[in-house]
Amino acid sequence: MIVIIKQNTENKKIEKLVKKFEDMGLSCHHSTGAHTTILGIIGDTSRVDIDAVRANDIVEDVKRVSEPYKAVNRKFQPEDTVVRVPSKDGGDVCLGGGYFSVIAGPCSVECEEQIVSVARDVKKSGATMLRGGAFKPRTSPYSFQGLHAEGLELLLTAKQETGLPIVSEIMDLSNIELFRDVDVIQVGARNMQNFAMLKALGHCGKPVLLKRGLANTIEEFLMSAEYIMAGGNAQVILCERGIRTFETITRNTLDISAVPVLHHQSHLPVIVDPSHAAGLTWLVEPLSRASIAAGADGLMIEVHNNPSAALSDGAQSLTPAQFDSVMDKVKAQLLFEGKRF
Ligand code: PEP
Ligand code: MN
Repeated sequence: MIVIIKQNTENKKIEKLVKKFEDMGLSCHHSTGAHTTILGIIGDTSRVDIDAVRANDIVEDVKRVSEPYKAVNRKFQPEDTVVRVPSKDGGDVCLGGGYFSVIAGPCSVECEEQIVSVARDVKKSGATMLRGGAFKPRTSPYSFQGLHAEGLELLLTAKQETGLPIVSEIMDLSNIELFRDVDVIQVGARNMQNFAMLKALGHCGKPVLLKRGLANTIEEFLMSAEYIMAGGNAQVILCERGIRTFETITRNTLDISAVPVLHHQSHLPVIVDPSHAAGLTWLVEPLSRASIAAGADGLMIEVHNNPSAALSDGAQSLTPAQFDSVMDKVKAQLLFEGKRF
């Protein structure tokens, strides 16, 4: 349920109304915009007498919200959420609300030389965050599983060298302590519905990059984001990375319509990972361009200093030179779209 408060209402009066809802065992999500204050009421609101709420003299209107997701719902917060990642260089790296960001780096962290050289190269081309997997969700148990704690250490070295904030995937909650200095925690497609993990990340105090599951609907995706927000963490980035279809030429099918649909339904920033969607390097540029045109707030692109020798996802990884050329196109398009980069 959302309660729209009349303009210029005193805070004291709003607090009194909030207390009424809380006394009924409900919680309130505040959204204060330039012109409106909205209270999103979360919990079993079936017992709330909507006419009685409407009769309150500070209430402009009351609406029931039919979607099962509340905190992530745009009806609860009309303004875009801007996710801010503190950067060593000073200013924050921002995503959403007109801010665009590019996260780039290898699928897996492999050694110091690899991660530091890729970090330097992608930074030069304009990437604003560095990615790299230390815990890898591989289809085969015999494939490279990542360098684990050592991989995270190497990412931190690359962060020290370049100042780029780092993004890495968590696969098991028991490792959360190792992610202390990771700036953005990634939840991979295969863990999108690991509800215990989502709940824990609801109070990790860091931005979470949540990838859409391989075969999950947009509603399921938003419900997973709701788990994180319900724990009190509003810094959630949604990432469309392609879904399973009958198509076999591409690794997955990029659901480009998910970008405007997610923006329509939610205030959270939406980024696209064209690398895992396509599985092929030559598709990364057109899919990046399509993503920006569809309104994406950022991109996540795999880049490797020697893709043919990569320990994972070499076929979709760009060389630093290819990434640089994609970034030229991306920058020109962002200028055209009027996004801040
Ligand atoms: C990744 O980003 O390296 C990854 C494993 O992605 P996804 O979870 O989307 O497959
Ligand atoms: Mn990968």
